[in-house]
Amino acid sequence: MARYLVTGGAGFIGSHLVEALHSDGHAVAVLDDLSTGRRENLPADAPLVVDDINRIGAHPDLWRGLDGCFHLAAVASVQRGTEDWAGCHDVNARGTIAVFEAARDHGVPVVYASSAAVYGDPIALPQAEDALLRPLTAYGADKLASELHARVAGGVHGVPTHGLRFFNVYGPRQDPRSPYSGVVSVFCDRLLADRPIVVHGDGAQSRDFVAVADVVRALRAALGAAALDAPVTNVCTGRSTSVLELSHTLARVIGVTPRVSHGPARVGDIRHSVGDPARLHETLGMTAETPLAEGLAALVAWA
Ligand code: NAD
Repeated sequence: MARYLVTGGAGFIGSHLVEALHSDGHAVAVLDDLSTGRRENLPADAPLVVDDINRIGAHPDLWRGLDGCFHLAAVASVQRGTEDWAGCHDVNARGTIAVFEAARDHGVPVVYASSAAVYGDPIALPQAEDALLRPLTAYGADKLASELHARVAGGVHGVPTHGLRFFNVYGPRQDPRSPYSGVVSVFCDRLLADRPIVVHGDGAQSRDFVAVADVVRALRAALGAAALDAPVTNVCTGRSTSVLELSHTLARVIGVTPRVSHGPARVGDIRHSVGDPARLHETLGMTAETPLAEGLAALVAWA
């Protein structure tokens, strides 16, 4: 049995990780301020400390005897980062430093969530880890800052880390009612309610949709690949899916005919995003292999 700490463990991705570690018999504690996460997402006997990420060092009991920390707590919304620039920076960049400081004090390796948002508008596709990083948003800039501070954590403070650049993650427990929720859960919610879906622009914009089950496998594998030189790895499928294609696949899984209306294109929306999964395979020995229809079926079964 190993001992782990998951920050943001009551949220969408974190709760799937907690569930997987817990069901394998490991001891998992969670720190989460429940701003978007929910207690009900966690196993009943999983210890939960409700506090801000910047106070993580004030809970030494959480850190004793840990085999690893998974840092997922963040304001996981590009839009919120725009509305509350400095506030989100406190959580998404400063909060990550607070995790690295506590990890240094207790000698614990850290796997942390970065994002494809560090790439900004891609110069070339697919996006590989050594591409030029030009984030377009505060959210992306803070994720890049986390990666830079991971280098400080390793080089100056001796903390092994591994950063994972998640692409568009989808699956059960992604809250469709959140105004900041991703396109998959919003479409799913509308199609299940037999309501029309609104596609921004022509719907040809594309994304790399990765199932949360594959993300959990990547998180677990990354702990064994945490290192002082602060490696970063894409978590992506390498498949590009247009938003229109997504709506049709989802409708087929649900068994309805989609009613699609087109709204104005969103300002600042990146046209195409798809990751290069080569390093995921080479470094973590895995592929994000869940077919889209299968991952969507898991979401529909939960919704
Ligand atoms: P989520 O909102 O469901 O989870 C984030 C969790 O962090 C929530 O439980 C929330 O309550 C908690 N949290 C927020 N602010 C906090 C604070 N100040 N102190 C303590 N806890 C706090 O989002 P998610 O989709 O599960 O995202 C998990 C991680 O993955 C985040 O770091 C996010 O930026 C990253 N990420 C997600 C995606 C995606 O497609 N969902 C893509 C790229 C990166």
